[in-house]
Amino acid sequence: MSERAKKIIEALRKNNFKAQYFDDVESALDALLNKIKVDESVGIGGSMTISQLDIPNILKKRGNEVHFHWLESTPEGIDSARLLASRCDVYLTSTNALTEKGQLINIDGIGNRATSMVYGPKKVYIICGINKIAKNVDDAIELIKNNAYKNARRLKLNTPCAVTGKCNDCDSPQRMCNVTVIIEKNPNKIEIEVLLINKELGY
Ligand code: SF4
Repeated sequence: MSERAKKIIEALRKNNFKAQYFDDVESALDALLNKIKVDESVGIGGSMTISQLDIPNILKKRGNEVHFHWLESTPEGIDSARLLASRCDVYLTSTNALTEKGQLINIDGIGNRATSMVYGPKKVYIICGINKIAKNVDDAIELIKNNAYKNARRLKLNTPCAVTGKCNDCDSPQRMCNVTVIIEKNPNKIEIEVLLINKELGY
């Protein structure tokens, strides 16, 4: 483990989060699947990392009840999945950024993911690649805004960042950056565990 990763794991633990470091995706995935019981319901927040690792399908195949709006095709199904996910035993997502002080920074358009990370489920697992690490909160927000155009293009949104690749703090009706949640320390009613992986994952 690098000195930087070691310090971040220590900082997360100091903030009362559970935190583990993994050298590779396979061992992180094994650990995650051991932590989540087959009879637990799992809500998933929009995350390229989680999708990239095919976790929703793995969980469904082994028998977990999974609520993930990316698997839905109708507006009603999408809304319902977002709500049901927030009430599951376990919530699974990544974080947009993680600071060297062990803070988790997330920016949402709707807010379902950022709020479900702090209230609703009993337990939250955050799968995070090392590319999400930022020095401090300001750098974390800059990192998120610098990468936002990738989501805007993926979702075919009509936002300036989708066109130019840069954030201009837009007033677009399709703006993705409406809710910013900074999790300083583990909230009282939930247990958050971060699985930090030594690999670039998501954006
Ligand atoms: S504020 Fe607007 S332009 Fe900036 S990243 Fe968010 S959606 Fe894109």
